[in-house]
Amino acid sequence: MTDHKRTAQLIFPDVEKTTEYYEELYPPRELPEGARVTRFSPSPTGYLHFGGLYASYASKLTAERSGGLFMLRIEDTDKKREVEGGVDCIINGLAAFGVAPDEGVTGEGTEKGNYGPYTQSLRREIYRAFAKKLVEEGRAYPCFCTPEELEDIRNRQENEDIKGYYGKYAKCRDLSDEEIEEKIKNGTPFTVRLRSEGDILRKIRFDDMIKGKIEMSENVNDIVILKTDGIPTYHFAHAVDDHLMRTTHVVRGDEWIASVPLHLELFRALGFKPVKYAHFAPIMKEENGGKRKISKRKDPEANVTFYIEKGYPEESVREYILTILNSDFEDWRRANKTEDISKFPFNLKKMSLSGALFDIVKFNDVSKNAISVMSAQKVYELVEKWAQDYDKELYELFTADSEKAKAILNIDRENPKPRKDIACWSEVRDYVTYFYNELYTPEFTLPYRMDKQSVAEILGKYKDMYSDSDSKDEWFAKIKELCEQCGYAPNVKEYKQNPDAFKGHVGDVSSVIRVAVTSRVNTPDLYYIMQILGKGEVIRRIDSVIDSIKG
Ligand code: GLU
Repeated sequence: MTDHKRTAQLIFPDVEKTTEYYEELYPPRELPEGARVTRFSPSPTGYLHFGGLYASYASKLTAERSGGLFMLRIEDTDKKREVEGGVDCIINGLAAFGVAPDEGVTGEGTEKGNYGPYTQSLRREIYRAFAKKLVEEGRAYPCFCTPEELEDIRNRQENEDIKGYYGKYAKCRDLSDEEIEEKIKNGTPFTVRLRSEGDILRKIRFDDMIKGKIEMSENVNDIVILKTDGIPTYHFAHAVDDHLMRTTHVVRGDEWIASVPLHLELFRALGFKPVKYAHFAPIMKEENGGKRKISKRKDPEANVTFYIEKGYPEESVREYILTILNSDFEDWRRANKTEDISKFPFNLKKMSLSGALFDIVKFNDVSKNAISVMSAQKVYELVEKWAQDYDKELYELFTADSEKAKAILNIDRENPKPRKDIACWSEVRDYVTYFYNELYTPEFTLPYRMDKQSVAEILGKYKDMYSDSDSKDEWFAKIKELCEQCGYAPNVKEYKQNPDAFKGHVGDVSSVIRVAVTSRVNTPDLYYIMQILGKGEVIRRIDSVIDSIKG
């Protein structure tokens, strides 16, 4: 009879607290019936993948809807993968898009919640208590195999269907108490392995919230739960954490499905109630007529930093993520144009089976829509905040005269049919260029169908008519009058009825004025543009075009 308790004491002489102690320290949460507790548990690799934000938003929504909460846990047991600033990168990425956790790591060494610490490297004692329990119960054992011995096992398994440390390969599974004691006393390095009770011929079944019923072979591997330095492996640590943090639902990428048999065995061995899983397919993108996963290496938009640097507002990002999270979101949005996004009945079960499709064109459209319904004041504040970090010149121009900036942003806004031409704040510079001589390089190209002489005539006459005290109606009436003076139809209808009688129509005339004043064919309402520029500047620009034509 092997004495597991003795082995446990030999391995963990330092562990004083029992698992019961931790069970009491982290009791079941007092939440309403059916409340979901979810988490995002990344490794701090210095990169927040769009898929991570997507999963976090789904986790946060499902928690919110059920009266539960969403946690952020940092899984830093693999120090090799850790990057300096990696934790902040995750925290800032989530916060920038309104997906901040309700509980967990909050940055700069701080955290909130009663179920912490929420950083795995600070939970060493907890894992050791649970590992000790497993050893005491004979569900885990020390393994003294050297890296060479493990390599040898791998080489011998080339033709095996199942690779790993199991069955006849699990050399240290049945060491005697004496052998164990001798090796430990000699200081032989060891890992601690789970003693799997799985049988490859038996199946486990679980109901995935996205994928439905899944049946897989049981785990048979005696996986390492504590490494030689006493640090737990991800598999072990996450099981202990999800239990003690009272997680109920795990939303994660479907690359983890292969680990579910192992995770369920760990939960069972530890006496934990298993969590519910929602494994989602990778986010895809179309390329050359096919589809592929969005990739960290190839696609800048795979990194959440991209959206921060480009200046996409959080509303746009959340709105787009919901579009690809639940396929009925767009219909809901069409029917509820101004409703707060939190009213949408989000459901994990409606997540795509085959992988949501990321489409930057669509994303920009969604963003333009979201920005178009914001007030000028809000747009101004968000642009100012973004520009402070990413476009100093624009920031200076905006803050030097914020009323002017707001007036620009207010053109064709705050009405039932707002313009939709800004997708992100890095586009604002281009959008406002012609309002600021510091940014503007005039470039007059003759509008379609126009000759120099007619342009000079139109601009020459218009210059004398323009008054900045005209109302919008008066301003437009003057353009029509100008049409008549220069041989253009004052409206398109008249022109179409009798095209030979005119040189063109009012559209051509206003186009000349527009291009002269802004160097653009397409702009928001020209009347307001001219109002903001002021009469002096309008006339100067018109004059310089006339000069350039004549010269
Ligand atoms: N830390 C794991 C990762 O880096 C999380 C896996 C899980 O969510 O269970 O992806």
